[in-house]
Amino acid sequence: MTAVPVAIGRRTTTPAPAPERGDGRLVDTHGRVHRDLRISLTDRCSLRCTYCMPEQGNEWLARTSILSTDEIEEVAQVAASLGIRTFRLTGGEPLLRADIVDVVRRISRIEGPDGPVEVAMTTNGITLAKKLPELIDAGLSRLNISIDTIDRQKFADLTRRDRLDDVLEGIAAAAASELRPLKLNAVAMRGVNDDELVDLVQFAMDVGAQLRFIEQMPLDSGHTWDRASMVTREEILESLGARWRLDPVPGRGGAPAEKWRIDGGPHEVGVIASVTAPFCGACDRLRLTADGQFRNCLFSNSEYDLGAVLRESAASSPAERAEAIAALLRSCVHGKLPGHAIDDPSFLQPARGMNAIGG
Ligand code: SAM
Ligand code: SF4
Repeated sequence: MTAVPVAIGRRTTTPAPAPERGDGRLVDTHGRVHRDLRISLTDRCSLRCTYCMPEQGNEWLARTSILSTDEIEEVAQVAASLGIRTFRLTGGEPLLRADIVDVVRRISRIEGPDGPVEVAMTTNGITLAKKLPELIDAGLSRLNISIDTIDRQKFADLTRRDRLDDVLEGIAAAAASELRPLKLNAVAMRGVNDDELVDLVQFAMDVGAQLRFIEQMPLDSGHTWDRASMVTREEILESLGARWRLDPVPGRGGAPAEKWRIDGGPHEVGVIASVTAPFCGACDRLRLTADGQFRNCLFSNSEYDLGAVLRESAASSPAERAEAIAALLRSCVHGKLPGHAIDDPSFLQPARGMNAIGG
């Protein structure tokens, strides 16, 4: 097996090849089996959420570096053969990708060792209403839509775009579709939407969706994150607990959200507490950036250069190319640390913002 180049921050190094373990599935040195690959399709976006992107002056990925649909399909096939079962399309805003329906169609027809894979998407919902029928026809099976506020002025301030109506239209279309469970994501922020947490949950229940609050993470491309402005899991639960009885839902598995049943059910609410209650021990996720870098953690400063592997193996046979991609994925998994260490004084925020990593 050939050792493959890895970009670390701005440096490139060549790691020791990772051993192939067991049945070839993606098991890291801490025993975590990886089944979920998040593929960022673009770093561009129709919004400019303050916690994710700067208002202006973002350094965009070069268009020539963005993976083609053929390359994404090829990589997804290799990943599925190594046990990846769920592909989540994200960004930036995945619906900005002109060939988004084709991407969904090509990935959703892939079969892994355990059967057909699942294709999910995280989106801000803009243009979703128009594209949803085609996406479902192409094989999309699940949707997460992000909405941090249902107040029009706050939405415009927070996203720097007056497009709440477009998002609500997307949510209505998703709610009317057969895609379930339908999840709505909201980043909780002090002084921004922390007075609206109950209203957001009620809104989600009214449309038949599940609200998941996300603790704000140090992943904004402006590097302005500040722990003091982050609303914690405890504060979210306190606020919701004043309105409803919340009973923990057991059986979380590798899911990032802890869930609570609301007033005995059937509705549930989730909290993704990446900062105050990290769930790294059960993490089964890998990421592929739009410009072809594998990442084993949102917060990692190491990247594994798929683009280089694809270029170097351009003249190789399909089997050799697949093995080169598999070797890179194994190296990426092998290099995964036990946790993200946000609380460690030596923690360094990744150079990429969330929009360029893929949330
Ligand atoms: N544009 C799509 C969207 O907003 O759903 C997909 C990409 S976005 C990066 C994916 C998710 O990451 C969204 O739910 C967003 O709220 C979340 N996110 C972005 N920056 C974040 C941050 N600094 N902390 C926590 N969540 C963040
Ligand atoms: Fe765009 Fe999503 Fe980032 Fe908001 S969170 S700026 S919608 S990529």
